Amino acid sequence: MNKKKTLMIVISAFLMAMVLSACGAGNSVQAASKDPVVHTETNGYGATANRATDVRDERVGDGSGLLMGLSGDLTQEEVSDLLYMREEEKLARDVYAYLYSQWQFPVFDSIAQSEQNHMDSILELLTAYGIEDPAAQTAVGQFTNSTLQDLYDTLIVQGSTSLEEALRVGALIEEVDIQDLDETLTRTDKVDLERVYSNLMFGSENHLRSFTSQLSRQLGISYQPVQLDQDRYDQIIADQPGQRGRAGN
Ligand code: MN
Ligand code: MN
Repeated sequence: MNKKKTLMIVISAFLMAMVLSACGAGNSVQAASKDPVVHTETNGYGATANRATDVRDERVGDGSGLLMGLSGDLTQEEVSDLLYMREEEKLARDVYAYLYSQWQFPVFDSIAQSEQNHMDSILELLTAYGIEDPAAQTAVGQFTNSTLQDLYDTLIVQGSTSLEEALRVGALIEEVDIQDLDETLTRTDKVDLERVYSNLMFGSENHLRSFTSQLSRQLGISYQPVQLDQDRYDQIIADQPGQRGRAGN
């Protein structure tokens, strides 16, 4: 389906951004020069880890394309996914905050708070691995990633036209989030990353059920998935919170 294509575009955009950033910035040189041990790679966003707390150095240096030193043994894909997820959660938070201001519909306010928690848990991982936060310098509604910026700009316009469209925007964001988390979970075997992503997935499934049930209850609309396969969508809607085998709270 088109979700793989979408993902490839996203990944390509990220790799391009990282290459451009690495070409234009002197951050990696600065980081390496603080320590006689050679840490040749950063994530391109300028990792700023505290060297004294990094205990992963003994695993560095197998030359297999892993990021070294500041980011522990995360692969470039794992770093890219963390950066993207940090801003994808921000996109959800910022869109819902905007839509709450438009419609004063309580579900947007409560789910925006949940997205803040999701942002926080990704930030904990970024901090732990010494990766610079892409959301550190961005205001509400502003994004480092241009794909997410475009998506935000589009969705707030769409969600402003009616409450139905606002709730559809919510459901779409959660569908995309679930789809991206499904893919992201296939690209890591790190227990700490898997735990956070699984918690985010648990939240997104709850949020998708919330938005679709509001569409049904408030407006009599039976939502049909836009991004997810029908089977995956039906499985999520049929599930009840707390019955999943997946970790989460
Ligand atoms: Mn979320
Ligand atoms: Mn969500």
